[in-house]
Amino acid sequence: TVRTRFAPSPTGMLHIGGARTALFAWLYARHFGGEFVLRIEDTDRERSTDEATKVILDGLAWLGLDWDGEPVFQSAREAQHVAAVEKLLAQGKAYKCYCSKDELDEMREGQREAGQKAMYDGRCRSRKEHPEGAPYVVRFRSPDEGETWVKDQVLGDVCFPNKELDDLIIMRTDGTPTYNLAVVVDDADMGITHVVRGSDHLNNTPRQIQLYEALGLIPPAFAHIPLIHGPDGAKMSKRHGSVAITEYREQGYLPHAVNNYLARLGWSHGDEEVFSEAQLIELFDLAQVGKGAARFDQQKLDWLNGHWLRESKAADLVAEVSRLLAIDVSAGPDLEPVIASLQERSKNLVDLAEGARFFYEAPTAYQEKAVKKNFRDTTWPLLESFIARIEAMEDFSGEAAHALIGEICETEGVNMGKLAQPIRIMVAGGPISPPIDLTLGLLGKDETLARLKSGIT
Ligand code: GLU
Repeated sequence: TVRTRFAPSPTGMLHIGGARTALFAWLYARHFGGEFVLRIEDTDRERSTDEATKVILDGLAWLGLDWDGEPVFQSAREAQHVAAVEKLLAQGKAYKCYCSKDELDEMREGQREAGQKAMYDGRCRSRKEHPEGAPYVVRFRSPDEGETWVKDQVLGDVCFPNKELDDLIIMRTDGTPTYNLAVVVDDADMGITHVVRGSDHLNNTPRQIQLYEALGLIPPAFAHIPLIHGPDGAKMSKRHGSVAITEYREQGYLPHAVNNYLARLGWSHGDEEVFSEAQLIELFDLAQVGKGAARFDQQKLDWLNGHWLRESKAADLVAEVSRLLAIDVSAGPDLEPVIASLQERSKNLVDLAEGARFFYEAPTAYQEKAVKKNFRDTTWPLLESFIARIEAMEDFSGEAAHALIGEICETEGVNMGKLAQPIRIMVAGGPISPPIDLTLGLLGKDETLARLKSGIT
């Protein structure tokens, strides 16, 4: 059974690249009915924070990338890492290196002067004298000859000549394991079958394969996902827009729109752009992930967001719109039909929430331009007559109010906008709102009258 993982370091936010890596690992596991697990790689104690862990978990939860079991904290697995290092030491597959910083600098300087690539020359492999109590790191004795192949499910077969891989530090002077050692021990212990991660880790993979072999373990399959670039072709960064997943949420994107967009950022299925979650799970495969860097396209994301916003059930948007509104809506109309009245016309959830605000907060000012354009001396008598007849109306409804506007305007021989627009401005503050029947129906008789009257006096 397939078991994938997402292994973020809690040193910062969950960014768009990390979210996509998680999505691909999640989709692959879900596609095969397998498992998707989380490992928080918090071994960098200085830079890892609980807050960052929370932000990452919240981001994944928001995207709906549910993980199986409890997250594993890498820092809790130090004993296993140390045991692996000791095993390698005992078998002579690793050795203690006492080289001082000065010695290493000198070595590299010499290599550079000789026009060679700076790499550890393995001098401690056979060092006889072991200075008592002197600090040391543990290095992996990597093979000098042959080659290590990464048979990548996305990038294809990549060959690394072993002579270019120097003896990697697997344990630091302070006794803490390094990334490559910890990741191998953990992925093996956690039964990971497919390592899906960013292509920035490709160069670590031959190291990790060598460690698997040295530890007598079978390496998992690897899939390295090309990075995300901005529209200008440079590596995605803050200046290309928001990068943190939480910011997309605050800007009113729907989690599924983000998932749909991120899935298509690198993966393709013909020319199609729109995929439901079920379709993504059914169709996703690593074989259709492109080898080249994907370019971030804000417009496509916005378009997908609009699409999924219109497709959503209003009831499913209530919680998020109410969070974005951040006001007490209990005195106003139910949020659900308000949302339904705005879905077609809104770009995103922030836009929608702003469009909903007037239902709960009466306007304190009217948009000046709209007033200039829509109010004439002739407007007042129309409004007065509308107010009088609404007051007298027994069965108020949005439709009835709408019909009444039609009637008044017909009698006066003017088109409906002459009355509907002023009403809209007075109840909503500006010239934009859902259709007037919906708007007035949702506001109800009392609120409609209160707003019109307070506007008139
Ligand atoms: N913790 C690593 C990172 O955040 C991930 C390593 C991996 O996926 O193997 O980049």
